[in-house]
Amino acid sequence: MGDDPASVELNRRLLSEEIGRPIQFMNQVHGNIVEVIDEYAQIPLTADALVTTNPNIALAVMVADCIPLLLTNQGSIAAVHVGRKGLLNGVTKSALSVMSDIAPSTITAIIGPSICGTCYEVSDDVYEEVTSTFPRSKSQTKHGGLALDLAAALSYELESNGVRVLDRTGCTVEDRSLFSYRRDGVTGRQVGLIWL
Ligand SMILES: [Zn+2]
Repeated sequence: MGDDPASVELNRRLLSEEIGRPIQFMNQVHGNIVEVIDEYAQIPLTADALVTTNPNIALAVMVADCIPLLLTNQGSIAAVHVGRKGLLNGVTKSALSVMSDIAPSTITAIIGPSICGTCYEVSDDVYEEVTSTFPRSKSQTKHGGLALDLAAALSYELESNGVRVLDRTGCTVEDRSLFSYRRDGVTGRQVGLIWL
């Protein structure tokens, strides 16, 4: 955020050249819309999950503390933006069901780096709201404050839906090589990329 649009454009173009295919970005709004795309759309789509079966397109999810979730099965892929709101609004389940309709087969997941259960301190209200539906998200800070472990909750939800979770990686707040909104305020974004 706050980056020069021209340099963002350039970086995206270089990345696209690097992987040899166009990258579909989303205009992420913490909603639960899943867009299935067959072709590269010139403009970013407003959605929090993208699904495609086209091997010539890469899908991107941008994050700085939220979870970049990448999914694949036999023949389709998805990039999903999962924050606290996304966990509650079921964007992941929607993406899983779209993928299963397109290509019924076991889905595997990579949960990319996000704010961890020790760093994500929240208010009593928020803690109650999330943990009442997702008990696995219960966590606490080093000082005993209320905190949420969204990756743990997501991982559990995925496995409960028969998804094989391959990897769960790092904390964006603690790893200074990663962008973190919670730590820095104005910051860049990580991009999670997937293609067939
Ligand atoms: Zn952390």
